Amino acid sequence: EGPRPARRIRALDPDVVNKIAAGEIIVAPVHALKELIENAVDAGSTSLEILVKDGGLKLLQITDNGSGIQIVPAVIYTGANQALKKEDLAILCERHTTSKISSFDDLASIGTYGFRGEALASISHIAHLTVTTKTKDSSLAWRAYYVDGKLAPPKPGQSAEPKGVAGRPGTQITVEDLFYSIPTRRRAFRSTADEFNKIIEMVGRYAIHCDGVGFTCKKAGESSNSLSIQAQATVNDRIRQIYGSAVANELISFDVSDSRWGFRADGFASNANYNIKKTTFLLFINHRSVESSVIKKALEQTYASFLPKGGHPFIYLNLAIDPARVDVNVHPTKREVHFLNEDEVVQEICKHIETKLAAVDTSRTFMAQT
Ligand code: ADP
Ligand code: MG
Repeated sequence: EGPRPARRIRALDPDVVNKIAAGEIIVAPVHALKELIENAVDAGSTSLEILVKDGGLKLLQITDNGSGIQIVPAVIYTGANQALKKEDLAILCERHTTSKISSFDDLASIGTYGFRGEALASISHIAHLTVTTKTKDSSLAWRAYYVDGKLAPPKPGQSAEPKGVAGRPGTQITVEDLFYSIPTRRRAFRSTADEFNKIIEMVGRYAIHCDGVGFTCKKAGESSNSLSIQAQATVNDRIRQIYGSAVANELISFDVSDSRWGFRADGFASNANYNIKKTTFLLFINHRSVESSVIKKALEQTYASFLPKGGHPFIYLNLAIDPARVDVNVHPTKREVHFLNEDEVVQEICKHIETKLAAVDTSRTFMAQT
């Protein structure tokens, strides 16, 4: 055999690089949808309508009533410069185009996680992407179609130029044939039902978290919504509609903060009357749904002395941390977040919830005795 002859090192084609990066950020349809929900919420929407076909692999569509996309400063925006508007649409899906930060230092003060300008770019490399958007000052909505980060004709022979169409203020993003350009990934999805379940779970999380925002999520072809939350519903209503009355009737609210560690945590947690086989943990850090096995374990430990063996809690935790103490830049997916004094913060939260649980427990025992 012997050693293989050395191969020349060559730079990858940018198109290949972009597809690799996109496939890392968006592993399943739910990851694309999460980015789109975050964008819609960042744009100040109070209504999000989501349409899903084949677990999101065939179609993911999200229609919002937010600000619309406008990167042109309002002062130079007059009816006559539609061309400028089109230029914004032209760069929308290039990587690292964003309206949210302009320097690395801005990262330290950013209130939103949407900062990389990567979501739409990524999606355009692995799906057919159509954006229709209208700001409230524009007389028309603009519709543009993207392939590989660039404007493209929606159908062969048509123009790639954004098209003026009638529409309501807000943005509609349509993602079709996700992973069409990564066939091995596309084939790896065995069950569209599983993908839909992940989607509805994620929509539910945001529907509970985003007070004042209405959500619907529907499977294409079905007449009724799989999830429907009115904009004016309270957090308790939202939990009731999504997770049921059994848990919604047994919730305690909590609110704890500590300026030493620069955090505030509030939310709802089940009391000792309720338990399930597996913990339901809805964690938001600075308004983004994230995972943390560290926080989850600590909370489970806190509950262990209040619940029967094998019983677990429901917890919705909204954690706001001084942006200067958070490092969101750990992983391109932003699913993992690190912050300073994590141990101390988690300990404060657990201590607070423990006191609340004990108070409810005592009043129950007291009532039972009298
Ligand atoms: P990021 O959110 O990191 O800025 P994205 O690729 O997700 O990057 O979006 C790029 C830009 O497109 C955003 O900065 C925002 O200006 C605009 N945008 C995307 N989605 C919406 C939306 N639903 N409503 C308004 N603007 C949007
Ligand atoms: Mg974004």
